[in-house]
Amino acid sequence: MENVHMLESALAGDLLTSDAGMTHLVTLADQFGGRAAGSSDEAEAGAYIVETLLTLAGSPPLVRQFRYAGWQRGDAELAVVAPVERALPSIGLPGSPAADLEAALLSIGRGEQEDVDALAADIPGKIVLCAAEGPRPNGQPPSHRRVKYLRAAGLGAVGFLYAGQNPGMLAVTGGLAGTGAAPIPGFGVSLEIGALLERLLARGAVTLKLRAEHGHESVTSSNVAVDIPGREEETILIGAHYDGHDIAQAATDNGSGTAVLLELVRALAPWRGRMQRSVRCCFWGSEEAGLLGSWHYARTAGAALDPVVWVLNLDSVVNGPPGRLRLRVWPPDAQDTVAPALNTRSLPVDVVGGLTSDSDHFPFAATGIPVIAAGAAGPGSGLVGRGWGHTIADTVDKVDPVALAFAAATAGRVLVRLSESTPAPSRLSDQALEAALDAAGRLAASRRWQELQFG
Ligand SMILES: [Zn+2]
Repeated sequence: MENVHMLESALAGDLLTSDAGMTHLVTLADQFGGRAAGSSDEAEAGAYIVETLLTLAGSPPLVRQFRYAGWQRGDAELAVVAPVERALPSIGLPGSPAADLEAALLSIGRGEQEDVDALAADIPGKIVLCAAEGPRPNGQPPSHRRVKYLRAAGLGAVGFLYAGQNPGMLAVTGGLAGTGAAPIPGFGVSLEIGALLERLLARGAVTLKLRAEHGHESVTSSNVAVDIPGREEETILIGAHYDGHDIAQAATDNGSGTAVLLELVRALAPWRGRMQRSVRCCFWGSEEAGLLGSWHYARTAGAALDPVVWVLNLDSVVNGPPGRLRLRVWPPDAQDTVAPALNTRSLPVDVVGGLTSDSDHFPFAATGIPVIAAGAAGPGSGLVGRGWGHTIADTVDKVDPVALAFAAATAGRVLVRLSESTPAPSRLSDQALEAALDAAGRLAASRRWQELQFG
């Protein structure tokens, strides 16, 4: 135990003074582009990670491939046909099926249950307009895009428009299905186009026309994992998804988390056998298609998950105050267990509770393993939700190299404390797990694995 501070300060110093993270991020973004789930860009980025890990860790990483029906973007058009005629800048949402239809528009506000309850009778046959991420007045966690989409489709909507919440004509993207086609066509539009449609609706009936030629074909994606053994078998699993969206460079989401994790492997490699708990570093594929890599791993790793006491997930770690991470810890007992070790004045973290289903910690939470979802402590520049993430503006220039190095240092320090100075939190199972998922509003999302089809 006496070497905890030495280990933490050595690791933080190393990570703070290294430029390698930014080199990885620039390579990921500029060499392989958006690294869309299931694409050849994603596969090439995976090969780059394998090659890098071979050099950094000195042992070959474990690569686990999986196949699924992946989405292929085709031409898509969205237009108002009444009361005016105008083409609308938009993008097809991944997973959207092909379509060619004309229908009346209906705004469903934020698309939460309380919003659609009041409109249930009006939704059948309509193209619905729904606001992307934003706070919910009742304090409940906001629903994931896919939940809003399936809610509207289940009530008979024939099309789904998802409007961004940050200015700049930034049409927002995000997957609708996991494997295979989603039920109704979906389009991302910008805040400004959403506002235009709301203004037209305030005047009277609005008719839209939409056409999409997307398709699906069988694709391969991979998870890449490398172990850094500690003195004990108990393991911290730390992960980041390396895929992104085809419309941009996927720099903050999640080139940043991937680069930080590669940096952690480099800095931890010399500490092999010296940390208390072991560390398994996992690079997930196809997160943006519906957490496919992490679901696949969580449900097929079997006994390899037995020693895992914590899952720490790194997603979009740079667009807040430099180095400051929000750590969302679940379940509540695990938060109580870890909070004393993380609440020290020099560690720039905000420890909060709750459980989200929007990144790769979730499949592990759904199996009862305590999770910590780490992300930047709020987007900077007054942006809401994912900030630049999931838009065409998620580019390398948004990433401050200092913030990236600081984020790596914070993540490394958190990892040391999880390894050295916290008791193992208990896992949940059976009824206690179901009750905890229900209390977090994530019970339905936890059953999503049953709908995914691999092979
Ligand atoms: Zn992400």
